[in-house]
This record gives sequence, C-alpha cells and structure tokens, in this order.
Amino acid sequence: MMSATVQSTGTVGPQETLGDRMHALAARLYPICRSITGNGVRQSLRILSEMIPLELHEVPSGTPVFDWTVPREWNIRDAYVANARGERVIDFRRHNLHVVQYSAPVRARMTLDDLRSRLFSIPERPNAIPYRTSYYKETWGFCLTDTQLRALQPGEYEVVIDASLTDESLTYGELFLAGETDEEVLFHAHCCHPSLANDNLSGLVVAAFLADALAKADRRYSYRFLFLPGTIGPITWLARNEQRVSRIRHGLVLSGIGDAGPFTYKRSRRSDAPIDRAMQHLLTSAAGTAQIRDFDPYGYDERQYCSPGFNLPVGCLMRTPHGTYPEYHTSDDNLDFLRRDSLEESLRLLVDLVYLLERDRRCVNLSPKGEPQLGKRGLYRSTGGTGVDARHMALLWVLNLSDGSFSLLDIADRAHLPFRLIEEAASELETAGLLRPGPQ
Ligand code: ZN
Repeated sequence: MMSATVQSTGTVGPQETLGDRMHALAARLYPICRSITGNGVRQSLRILSEMIPLELHEVPSGTPVFDWTVPREWNIRDAYVANARGERVIDFRRHNLHVVQYSAPVRARMTLDDLRSRLFSIPERPNAIPYRTSYYKETWGFCLTDTQLRALQPGEYEVVIDASLTDESLTYGELFLAGETDEEVLFHAHCCHPSLANDNLSGLVVAAFLADALAKADRRYSYRFLFLPGTIGPITWLARNEQRVSRIRHGLVLSGIGDAGPFTYKRSRRSDAPIDRAMQHLLTSAAGTAQIRDFDPYGYDERQYCSPGFNLPVGCLMRTPHGTYPEYHTSDDNLDFLRRDSLEESLRLLVDLVYLLERDRRCVNLSPKGEPQLGKRGLYRSTGGTGVDARHMALLWVLNLSDGSFSLLDIADRAHLPFRLIEEAASELETAGLLRPGPQ
C-alpha cells in the first residue's frame, strides 16, 4: 500500500533529481518577503497550492486566541535609506532582510548619529545581513552588513519605509488528507521567514513534497499539514481546532532540514510518545551521526503543541539545531546553504517515518509451540553453516516476539534490525498463515 506510491516521488527525469526539484521550489519561494501576516505569506502558500490542494484560511486581526491576539497585517512595498546625493545606501529592493520585519511606516530626514540606533549589523560576520523582527512592539529599523554600516558617512539621510499595518487578517495554509481512520498525523512547517532558506524554506518544501506523495497514496491514518507563521500561527490554529486535537496521534515540526548537518530530533514533552520511539529507531538505525535531544520549552512551534494544556505527541526534526550555525538568521542562510541532497534525504526519512507509522502493529504467532518449520513453507533462507542473514533473523524475531504484546517497532528495536526488514518478515509470515493481526 503506502510505500509504493510514496516512493514514486523519486521518479523524475533522467537529469533532474528529486533534490533538484525540491531546491527549485525553494528558489521560487526565496525572494518573497514573507512575515507572520501579509501578502508574502499568501503568495507563498499559493505557490505551494499549485502542487498540493492547500486550503488558505484568513483569521481577522484582533481575534483573541488564548492569551494572544491576532496582530494587524503588515505589508511592505519599498524601503530605503538614501544619502544626500539620493543614492540608496540601504535598499529593501536588493534584499528584504534589510528592513526589520513589522517596521512601522516612516518618512524622515535624519543625521547618521540619530539613525544609528535603528541600524543593526553583525560585527563578527561583517558581510551578512541579520534577520530582525519586532512583531508585537511597534518600532522600525534597518538591517545591513557591518561592512555597509562602516562605510556610511556622517551627514543627513532620507529614511523611507513604505509599509502598512492594517486590520486585515492572518493567513495560514492547511491540507487535510483523510485516511481509513480519523486518527491523525500532523506535520507542521512555519512560513513566516522572508529570504532565509534553511530556516523555513527547507521545512515548507519538504512538507509540500511529502504531502504530494501522501495525497497519492492509500492511507490508514489521516494526515494534516499545517503551514503557519511562527508562534501566533499554531496558537491560532489550536484555538480554532481545540475540539479536534485529541485525534492527533503523532506530530512533527519540520524546521531547518536542508543544511549539510546530520539530523537532530527533539523529543516531544511526553518523551516516550510513539513518534519519539519511531524517530529514535529510524535515526539510530541509519547513519549513526544523528542526535536525539530531550524536550525543552524553547525552540520552534513544538512549544505550542507541547504546552501543558495540550501536551500533544509532537516532536521536532532539524538538522543543525537553530542558533548553533553562524548562517542562522542571516542573509548567509541562502539558496547556496540549502543542499539538494539534504532536502532529498530529509524527505526520504519522512517517507520511512510514514511507512513505519502506517505499518506498525501487533501480531500473534499462530504456531507458537516450538519453531514452525519454515523450510516447507519456502521461508527458510539460511545457506546452512555460514550463519543466518538479517532477513532470516527478522523472521525468527517476529515469530518469537509476536505474542500480541510487542509491536513490530518493539521487535525491530529489540532485534536491532531496521523496521522495514521486520515489517517485511511479518507480511511474509502473514501470507504464509503463520501470523495474524493481534490486539492493537
Ligand atoms: Zn527562525
């Protein structure tokens, strides 16, 4: 069922790899000035809608959502600082990180000394523009490279931010794929960062490709994909869907999964939820370089799903953790920083996760008294005298532990064998009449 269709995601033209296609989508989204509200988010979600049947929701500014209020909508058309000769020395048109996100509109003339407290750079990384926001405190400012800042001459400057903060709405994207049960698997990606590639385009792109693959597959679980602005997005979604969240069986926040680093998985607040065990199994049986971290109440939007009033089984998948790489939240987190092979590997890991979640089950051995004779059923593979191969071991483990109390994931962990091998062994044994589904 599941796997065949999902794997067909990899069927691409002879020259173009799956990673190329993923990177190309990121490149299309990269120049758009997204924020927690506004036309940049709408435009980005519409681009994703070309690929997956995403539903766009608009929540009016001023709507109370738990302890928060949906903010005014921010849109920006232009912004610059120009010198006395009219030359733009800081220009939003060159890079949308040049403006502090949610800057209030301004038109002023001021001296460099007066302007200085509004200018932000990173002295330790002199050629990078920092990413700064001020969503909930009205202010304005510009970000620039430290090299640019040092080159500014004393004198008077024209300062323009042609932006608006208006009572409109907050936009988010949602895709629900119904399965055989109404139990849900949730995937979340934030969509509020402007021209930053790993932090947040990698999550958007991988989630969109996964959703596309799942939309074409048979599904036991229902799947929900959320493309939300950071913090206020999941808080808004949770406030509007409180009655529905008990259906969420497994959830994952996807963020920063396109850089060259190894995977990092942050456990849910519960720490032993099935998603935690599944990710641990997949990551430790793979490359071996992955890190598993315990939950802490800082980070991405797992914070909202794992707040004590919800305590949902939602973990977070990253590669290099946020804040620990020098490109993080700067203009150096760009399309060159985003690796095609990393995007593709992240997608494949999630396809493996879905396969595991879909097919994990408890089984009962129908011939539990002594080992059943595998040879007469064509299941005996050992070449005799040279030891047993992993496939044969998988059959023996499944038969031995299938007393109805252990799931296939339990067996895979105990056998130190990949889930897929254990699952294939279980399917073979079911076909041979040696195994039946147990209590779930
Ligand atoms: Zn970020």
